Amino acid sequence: MAVFNFSAGPSTLPRSVLEEARDELVDYGGSGASLVELSHRGPEYTAVHEDAIALARSVFSVPEDFAVLFLQGGATLQFSMVPMNFLGEGRSAAYVISGAWAKKAFADAQLYGTAYGAWDGDRGGYDRMPRPEELELAPDTRYLHVTSNETIGGIQMFDWPEAGAPLIADMSSDVMSRPIPWRLFDLVYAGAQKNLGPAGASIVFVREAALESTNRELGAYLRYDLHRDGNSLFNTPPVFSIWLIGKVLRRLVEQGGLAAVATLGRRKAALLYDAIDGSGGFYTSPVQRDSRSLMNVVFNVPGEQLEQRFLSACSDVGLVGLKGHRSVGGVRASLYNAMPLEGVEALVAVMSEFQAENS
Ligand SMILES: *Cc1c(COP(=O)(O)O)cnc(C)c1O
Repeated sequence: MAVFNFSAGPSTLPRSVLEEARDELVDYGGSGASLVELSHRGPEYTAVHEDAIALARSVFSVPEDFAVLFLQGGATLQFSMVPMNFLGEGRSAAYVISGAWAKKAFADAQLYGTAYGAWDGDRGGYDRMPRPEELELAPDTRYLHVTSNETIGGIQMFDWPEAGAPLIADMSSDVMSRPIPWRLFDLVYAGAQKNLGPAGASIVFVREAALESTNRELGAYLRYDLHRDGNSLFNTPPVFSIWLIGKVLRRLVEQGGLAAVATLGRRKAALLYDAIDGSGGFYTSPVQRDSRSLMNVVFNVPGEQLEQRFLSACSDVGLVGLKGHRSVGGVRASLYNAMPLEGVEALVAVMSEFQAENS
């Protein structure tokens, strides 16, 4: 049975991309070998690699003076690479502590340099993003790190802070859902497995000028400048992941690009939030309205027993991956680009039926 997969990551991919990959997996373009068996310096993979980078540049409207990198180690390695590269002696970095992922990024940064919290959402239970004017930045802050979408808490940043320090953002779970205002950023990173492709790669966009003063006294893999110099072929790249990312990007172009998916994304999220708000308190959202994530919609069903039954009612009709993160419980519907509107319509229909039967 085909399902609608609401998993937060790894997460749903366009069916057409998977089918294309299946058809090409064993014999790539008549070469007699699989792409994943061929040299990463050979003509077949070189074309795939260049294509993925060019498509990323075009889809994200990346300015000329930014490099596009594909790295391994997930978004988690970026939690270390960012401070290792940018936080030299006498420099400090500010972190917006907006939830579970921001806390991890902040903890790693503190190992490599002076990092401080510019705002902490703990008092509100991480139920919203800060307003830009709430941030407190020390003079000479090298960068301000933000997590644009807290995948577990279900909150998203809509007002980018323009606080006097360049932004560095973890966009793992809302990358490719809306345009990026590049002028504010020195670096943007995202693990692939939420909205871009299979796990195994992360995409990093970094301003060339920012690479001039990065730390050179690091193990080679940890240096952004070497990955830039090698065009992400400094060592063997995650070829399978990059190959599929290229296919996902091409499909996005065919669908009308970022503006089109952003419009559809707002529709999908509105449909679900309207169902929650219209349930007369049966379903509840734990996050503040102006920070509600369009990508990971977190909500509660009254009582743990009903929650279990709700999740079963969903899986009975092929709606899977809806269990909230183990640290917070509840229900979480991830509405990444590959989730069609019909998937959200099906979920809303189950919600309405389930409420009628149980209230
Ligand atoms: C999933 C996620 C991560 C961790 O990604 P890995 O690729 O597993 O390291 C980091 N930040 C955010 C916002 C995420 O959603």
